[in-house]
Amino acid sequence: MSESPSPQFASVWLPVPKRQSFTYRLPSELPAVKPGDLVLVPLGKRKVVGLIESVQHVAPEGLGGIKPILDFLPQEYSLSPEILEVLRWAMNHYLAPPGEVLRSFLPPALLKGRMGKGERAKEAQLENFFSEEKLPQVILNEKQSQAIREVGANLGSFYPCLLHGITGSGKTEVYLELCREVLSRGQGVLILVPEISLTPQTVGRFVQRFVDKVGCYHSSLSEAQRSQTWWSARQGGKNIFIGTRSAVCLPVQNLGLIIVDEEHDSSYKQEERFRYHGRDLAVLRAKVRGIPVVLGSATPSVESWENVSRGKYRLLRLPERATQAELPQMHLIDLKIHPPHPETFLSEPLEKCLNLVMERGEQAMLFLNRRGYAPFLLCRDCGEVPRCPNCEISLTYHRDGYKLLCHYCEFSVSTGEVCAKCASPNLEPIGIGTERIEAELRKRFPKLRIGRLDRDVATSRNMTETVLSQFGKGELDVLIGTQIVAKGHDFRKLTLVGILFADVTLNFPDFRAAERLFQIVTQVSGRAGRHELPGQVFLQTYRPDHYSIQAALSQQHELFFVQEKSFREDLGYPPFSRMVLFRVSGIQEKRVEAACGQLTSRLRTLLKKFPEVGIQGPVQSTLQKLRGRFRWQVLLRTPKFERLRNVLGDFLPQMESDLPAGVRLTVDVDPMGVF
Ligand SMILES: [Zn+2]
Ligand SMILES: [Zn+2]
Repeated sequence: MSESPSPQFASVWLPVPKRQSFTYRLPSELPAVKPGDLVLVPLGKRKVVGLIESVQHVAPEGLGGIKPILDFLPQEYSLSPEILEVLRWAMNHYLAPPGEVLRSFLPPALLKGRMGKGERAKEAQLENFFSEEKLPQVILNEKQSQAIREVGANLGSFYPCLLHGITGSGKTEVYLELCREVLSRGQGVLILVPEISLTPQTVGRFVQRFVDKVGCYHSSLSEAQRSQTWWSARQGGKNIFIGTRSAVCLPVQNLGLIIVDEEHDSSYKQEERFRYHGRDLAVLRAKVRGIPVVLGSATPSVESWENVSRGKYRLLRLPERATQAELPQMHLIDLKIHPPHPETFLSEPLEKCLNLVMERGEQAMLFLNRRGYAPFLLCRDCGEVPRCPNCEISLTYHRDGYKLLCHYCEFSVSTGEVCAKCASPNLEPIGIGTERIEAELRKRFPKLRIGRLDRDVATSRNMTETVLSQFGKGELDVLIGTQIVAKGHDFRKLTLVGILFADVTLNFPDFRAAERLFQIVTQVSGRAGRHELPGQVFLQTYRPDHYSIQAALSQQHELFFVQEKSFREDLGYPPFSRMVLFRVSGIQEKRVEAACGQLTSRLRTLLKKFPEVGIQGPVQSTLQKLRGRFRWQVLLRTPKFERLRNVLGDFLPQMESDLPAGVRLTVDVDPMGVF
């Protein structure tokens, strides 16, 4: 065996927001290293922790004065080749700077050079998820068993599947049973959920079943708690990890299965720094590892449906409610024919039904996708509408605390008695929000016990739990809320769901508006009549003929998908194209506009050889100003992203370093919204 000389240089990723790796010299007295090892290196006057990306025998050209690596972290800190591959893919695909990707894969304390493993951290509270009532003995139905058998038979190989289970069909039982099976093979499971605090019932089921084998990972944990969970994944102290999107990066030992619950949920998309999609990264991770990934939803995303029809994902169906309960009866209310009550926004048929339900001692849920009292405050004399000084959009009027609040940047100002422009006292809230509906309902139905749940109430997890548990115990008759109430809650006496104004969602300026509406209507409707009592749903809209409303009403998912697909295909929207959004922002508008123009013309030159790429821009973003920064954008659309990726990856570092001072460029691959 001939001995090859050991490499002398290492390319290292550092946790800094630069689109580059850094080269260091490998000291000969130190042991052999490999990609994935963590090292301590000098950066300017600091010492930082970095990750070895690759090792080389010759120094890259044009580099002088290469500094040596100072120290190596013990092997137990190293990332496995598999995690390294996922990290590298994520970096290339999302055109993200290495340092920002690194932050997602290593615990923050470690990157700051603290070698503790969170031993002293108070363990993340899981007791909260224990419910008092005993779990009923579950008997799986045939479809559930079939889904479990199919995935079970494919453990040990890449097997992506979409578990389409209607609301109340018992997806969680399928997950639990699969977990048991994977655990019995001595392997680990990763479960992603959209938001921990909004899915206490789902999380609770896992905690109850697997107790001390479960670890939790989400952004409201302390740094030390996150370290602790990361290490229990790395060292195999626990086997089941349940968390929000960032948990997809946990180094779970001997990973055997990944589950993504509510795969359609937009909170899987990270909208800052490293802009990745948790579900897509989960699928990639399963592919690299060669294991099944189960994407569960009652309302699958158009992307996942399309992957099923292209034969990339296997479709597993749970078409029946596990409790044998009937699906709710749906009523479409055309607001042109049955005008809403001016204050409560209830149409006559909905109000009648509400009265009946209340007489029977059952419960109702009213849904409106807009929080606050009114979307804006209008001066009746001069027409002035107060706007956010940072974002230039109208401020939402909140009567709780009499303030005007920006829903984008949290800017807030007290309402005042008179118009700021003309001093008229003639100020009028225009439009409806959950807060207003709550106030008006209290006036109209003084005997009813009414609760509200939206982002303003749910500022803490405790408040969310309090309201939900009050409703669950029957201490409230009516619950009004935004999407938060649509998530997987289960209430025995809830028999009436009213969707007050579907158009709020449908008229949102986003190509995913119809998909969102279909999902929300399905999810909210699914709350009604899940047990012995039959449920009813009233859907109020001015656009009763819209295909997403029609499909949601008849619960024909395929019908919706076919129509949405043809709309997306005609206009070249995902999944029939990939989009890359370049956003330029800064506090000086002229500079931002000029920089975006520069960027666009360089992109046009660069992409001359790619006629299939559509370039839209430069244009001002729909949200022209956000948090005090002006925003311009260029949007690329292409049917073949793979060809483009490397070209853009090579182009970006130079482009970024040529930006004028104070101007920032962000790149979003597969953006959720383009406004
Ligand atoms: Zn005025
Ligand atoms: Zn604002």
